[in-house]
Amino acid sequence: MNTIFAQCSGFGKAGVTVFRVSGTESAKALEILTQKPITSLKPRTAYLRKIFHPQTGNQIDEAIVIYFQDKSSFTGEDCVEIHAHGSYAVIKLLNQALTSISGLRLAEPGEFAKRAFLNGKLDLTRAEGLADLIEAETEQQHKQAIRQLEGGLEQLYNSWRQMLLTIIALLEAYIDFPDEDIPEATLAEINHNITDLISQITLHLNDNNRGERLRSGLKLAIIGQPNVGKSSLLNRFLKREAAIVSSIAGTTRDVIEGHLDINGYPVIIQDTAGIRDGATDQIEQIGINKSKEALAKADIKIIIYDLSGDMAEQADQFQNLVDDYTIIVYNKADLYDKKLPENNSANSVYISAKHGDNIDSLIEKIAQIAARLASPSESPQITRERHRAQLAKAIEALTMFNLDGELVLAAEDIRMTIRYLSNITGVITVDEILGEIFGKFCIGK
Ligand code: GDP
Repeated sequence: MNTIFAQCSGFGKAGVTVFRVSGTESAKALEILTQKPITSLKPRTAYLRKIFHPQTGNQIDEAIVIYFQDKSSFTGEDCVEIHAHGSYAVIKLLNQALTSISGLRLAEPGEFAKRAFLNGKLDLTRAEGLADLIEAETEQQHKQAIRQLEGGLEQLYNSWRQMLLTIIALLEAYIDFPDEDIPEATLAEINHNITDLISQITLHLNDNNRGERLRSGLKLAIIGQPNVGKSSLLNRFLKREAAIVSSIAGTTRDVIEGHLDINGYPVIIQDTAGIRDGATDQIEQIGINKSKEALAKADIKIIIYDLSGDMAEQADQFQNLVDDYTIIVYNKADLYDKKLPENNSANSVYISAKHGDNIDSLIEKIAQIAARLASPSESPQITRERHRAQLAKAIEALTMFNLDGELVLAAEDIRMTIRYLSNITGVITVDEILGEIFGKFCIGK
């Protein structure tokens, strides 16, 4: 494998920038750049070193360098970190310098993490946790990513797989010695373990997609008739003019989005075209269709009623959309009472989008729904459809498992289940199965 390098810190001017080099040529690259032997460095210790351009011999910078030897690095191979000053010039020169060293090439996206996986430093779920941690924008997303990076999912799936490996080793033994019957107690225990595993996986799957929702953000659609104040509310949330506010009905033609962090939950707010019957304008009609699509995909809905409009008509039009994750917002309250009604119910609130009255209480209601939908549960959560698909297949295989029939077929169902679980973590299973079987052999056999 060639040695790869990349600037690992963000682009642009900064106090410090970090370059990482990984692969067999890492130490040699550092020797060339510092003009000093690698033996002058104790691994995993920071040193201040002058960095020189290999072609011109000119000094590029004075930087902190760290050498990670072999397995004791993030990637599981020889690795070097250079913490240089983050100016455009230093970054450019360092890139040039590293490119000029033979055996080195620029890393592809995710290649360091991929090497860590291939070298057994991370399983796939941890690698995904790492990607999520880098992408995390809110506190709850961060919490979930850390848990996955720490191996929450890996441990869960490994514990299931371990149990199945024990069963398969046993079944293999009885397949090899067909004259021996499996004792009743062993059969009962295997059946019990499989039934228990089916319920654990089912429970794990019945999570209302919390993990995926938290990862990708909760979609909140603002709906209502034209002119009720949807765009005004979106702008109020985003504290900027994202959507055009006008008294001309049908101004918002497309779905306009904004990203919010509400109590640590990522919420994607969507202002939709006003939904009204009898829109004749073709473009407005397209907008209305898009609103309906956004509505169908929304996790949370805000239905806005204009207090100055026809309340009965609005209720008639939207009442059937109300569910447990809907908030009814009565807007333009400023036109009526100086004082807003105290007793806003659990799922409704009086506001003035124009003046910002009672927006806090609306945000509080959104936060409560977001927590209901996506607060992290006690046990690790599925965060990707990829996990879900493999778990569904695992359940299917386990449901087929039957010890009353051919043992070979029963063993195959277990083997398939192990494979599905391994597809999630990325662990190769053949060796493990062999390990389970041969590990029980006595020495010398
Ligand atoms: P949309 O069509 O539902 O997006 O509504 P807009 O946000 O474009 O608002 C339509 C009209 O209602 C504009 O003239 C706004 O200034 C006005 N409006 C919106 N919210 C309020 C409010 O809380 N009070 C009052 N008095 N007018 C509002």
